Amino acid sequence: MVTAESAKTTPNKMPVIPITEIEQSAFCSTEDDLETKTLEKEFEIGVNWQKIPISYLRATPEELDSRIHQAKNKLGNRLVVLGHHYQRNEIIRYADYRGDSFKLSQYAASQPKSDFIIFCGVHFMAETADILSGDHQSVILPNLTAGCSMADMAQIDDVMDCWDDLTDVLGQGGIIPITYMNSTAAIKALCGRGGGIVCTSSNATAAFEWALGQGQKILFLPDQHLGRNTAHKLGIGLEETLVWNPFKPMGGHSREALSNAKVILWQGHCSVHTRFNVSQIEKARTDHPKVSVIVHPECTMEVVKAADFNGSTEFIIKTVSEAPAGTTWAIGTEISLVNRIAQENPDKTVFCLDSVVCPCSTMYRIHPAYLSWVLDGLNEGVVVNQIQVDNETKNEARLALDRMLALV
Ligand code: SF4
Repeated sequence: MVTAESAKTTPNKMPVIPITEIEQSAFCSTEDDLETKTLEKEFEIGVNWQKIPISYLRATPEELDSRIHQAKNKLGNRLVVLGHHYQRNEIIRYADYRGDSFKLSQYAASQPKSDFIIFCGVHFMAETADILSGDHQSVILPNLTAGCSMADMAQIDDVMDCWDDLTDVLGQGGIIPITYMNSTAAIKALCGRGGGIVCTSSNATAAFEWALGQGQKILFLPDQHLGRNTAHKLGIGLEETLVWNPFKPMGGHSREALSNAKVILWQGHCSVHTRFNVSQIEKARTDHPKVSVIVHPECTMEVVKAADFNGSTEFIIKTVSEAPAGTTWAIGTEISLVNRIAQENPDKTVFCLDSVVCPCSTMYRIHPAYLSWVLDGLNEGVVVNQIQVDNETKNEARLALDRMLALV
């Protein structure tokens, strides 16, 4: 029965699974072979790629390498190329700077002499770089289909419906929205105007403490696992957390349950990090009795609890690189990064918890052919694939980002 009360709330919706989620396993392989092929060959994998002129499609890795070097040299310090840790090595080799999403955006903001910022990462990262960089700078994402399945799980219309429901139940100011960096600019803007904050996997605990210190409940977007792991770290029990299902009226909960919850988690996840499970950890411990297991907090709570350490990509890199020679590490994060950590730590045994080689399929869409294409465009005076956030969204998102910066 539809009552006056329920009529105000979100209607039942047809679940829409993001295309990037459906395509997530496209590049998975049981062979340890992530060697870059021509883009034409990689197109055969059948994921959603951005169309590109045919000369780039057929160029060999050697031809692209020479073209990219030439184009970069011509642009000099008018250009900065940023490479996220999860990019393939064939892209990382052209990066002037590598890091996690926030570190890269901060770096971009500290390079005012660079007119062009090519962000080899995914869409929400390029948006954040555009928010933090100067008006005279253009941020470019080499392949527009490089999204993030987790960010795609929190569509702004669904989040607005949730926010309206929650403020209806809890009253204005009764809940603080916190969004993980891995979200669209529109979600960051909602957090900005709703008195909320952005966080990374390094400072999620500080962001929770900031919100709880104001005596407030938390709406955490879009990764339920990072939210749950952070709440657990702060002693918030599972009975005090709820998962908001955007496809059900009121997220699937009664007004009473929402009033009693301390943390409301958006029903989103990372398709890469939720591949890890406790059996993989048990197997690593059986095969390597002295192994240390380190995972990213986007993994499930069971995995985080079964691991020895958990933390951001920067934390994982630092912990393994500073460990004594001869130690053994099983890592639960994106495979391109795990392989790079293994290469850069030849004095240690480093392997991925998952025996299936499964890169983040959206990160993997940045192929050298796209980088070459956007660089050639710049040398011809054409900015291709510029990512621009409108001023209103930028200003509101900036509020939430600035609150985060004030935390550290
Ligand atoms: S690893 Fe997960 S959170 Fe990161 S870009 Fe890929 S899908 Fe998104």
